[in-house]
Amino acid sequence: MLHQAGNRFNAQELWQQDHDHVLHPYQHFDSFKKEGSLVIVEGDGCYVTDAQGRRYLDGIGGMWCVNAGYGRKEIAETMAEQALQLCYSNFFVDVTNAPAARLAAKLAELAPGDLNHVVYATSGSCAVDTAIRLAHFYQSRRGQGSRRYVISRKNSYHGSTYLGMTVGLRDGDQSQHFKYIPDLVHHLSAPYPYRRPEGMTPEAFSDFLVNEFEDRIAELGAENIACFIAEPAQASGGVTLPPPNYLPRMRELCTKHGILFIADEIVTAFGRLGHFFASKDVFGIEPDMILTAKGLTSGYIPLSAVIYSDKVHEVISAPDPDVWFTHGYTYAGHPVACAVALKNIEIIEREDLCGNAARVGDYLEKRLGELRDLEIVGDVRGRRLMMCVEYVRDKKTRERLPDSCNISKRISNACEAEGLLVRPIGHLDVLSPPLTITREQVDFVVDTLKRAIVKAVAELK
Ligand code: PLP
Repeated sequence: MLHQAGNRFNAQELWQQDHDHVLHPYQHFDSFKKEGSLVIVEGDGCYVTDAQGRRYLDGIGGMWCVNAGYGRKEIAETMAEQALQLCYSNFFVDVTNAPAARLAAKLAELAPGDLNHVVYATSGSCAVDTAIRLAHFYQSRRGQGSRRYVISRKNSYHGSTYLGMTVGLRDGDQSQHFKYIPDLVHHLSAPYPYRRPEGMTPEAFSDFLVNEFEDRIAELGAENIACFIAEPAQASGGVTLPPPNYLPRMRELCTKHGILFIADEIVTAFGRLGHFFASKDVFGIEPDMILTAKGLTSGYIPLSAVIYSDKVHEVISAPDPDVWFTHGYTYAGHPVACAVALKNIEIIEREDLCGNAARVGDYLEKRLGELRDLEIVGDVRGRRLMMCVEYVRDKKTRERLPDSCNISKRISNACEAEGLLVRPIGHLDVLSPPLTITREQVDFVVDTLKRAIVKAVAELK
């Protein structure tokens, strides 16, 4: 049955306006010219509705971000009240506003260890830029200005500004068309256990990765390295969980060599893995900085934050009349965005959405595991409400299907036709639903995805 939202929109006109005038993030021109966009007009709970009135379970939570679910009246009311009370406030130098001050204190309370300080930004990409500038500033302020290099990993995604794209590195980033920043970032191997070298145990793979970092430090000189940046679980790079003990050992090496450890938790923070932050509670590390965006406001409004340690703060804020932290965005500490974040956190706590993500996420993991028996499913991996299915031609050799099969898109299209949105990335389909998802909805997700995979296998024969 079509949802009544469709009645209020002219689907064809919207499709055409978008088609004729919008350049989307990661637009693929050939397919866009033919197919255009799916026009979404309404959201409620775990569901979204398109302009024709078709309803979908949003298995990707917008873009890993609508953690509290769509259509929260109290968030909308908070937004309106704050906009009427104070719609904007200069945040530069020494002016603040109530929601920004309260949110910083709340983030300090929730974050692990001594992460008690906050720099606000407006997107994940801006948080990455901010963190790297902060790392350089810190190293310079402690008299180690030669520390310039950033160590990252292959298969990572850290945003779409020039710095973000230089720091991240994924297959198919079209780097031949762009001019990424030279001589700044060094990439280590991806912690991608499914694609580790043949015959290597997960423990030996961990040794390999840690040794590679140690060798790279020796090669570049610790005195030239500012920071190491890592998604605790790589998200767009394939929802990879690190091999055993890898992150704590990388943390140790950073501490030993004076390199700041930046955890990019833009996807993993705010409940997706069953905890507010994954660094400590899931992976057992205390980073020097944690980056958060997406789930911070559940996508209701753009906001990001870099939460950093007392140790860093003491160094950068040491009295010196000639020193300024010359960094900031017009919309940093935006009162409406910060008020939304506070309300969103209140909802996550009140409804124990981390607990729901843990319980229902464990169930999703278990049920998705059933897909392992299907012919083209090479791997099912992830944790709780951050999961993916990787498709292969040969399960034994892990050889991929040819790109021409367009396998993940083929499967996600079949899901869409049955009222489920999943996110195709390369040879995988990703799931990251709102944290409010129920077991019954998980059954629908897994059963629908299973049928779509079976259909794709039949088509490929
Ligand atoms: N870092 C990670 C781990 C991400 O997944 C993303 C976005 O998906 C970003 C950074 C960039 O965030 P934004 O798109 O808000 O700039």
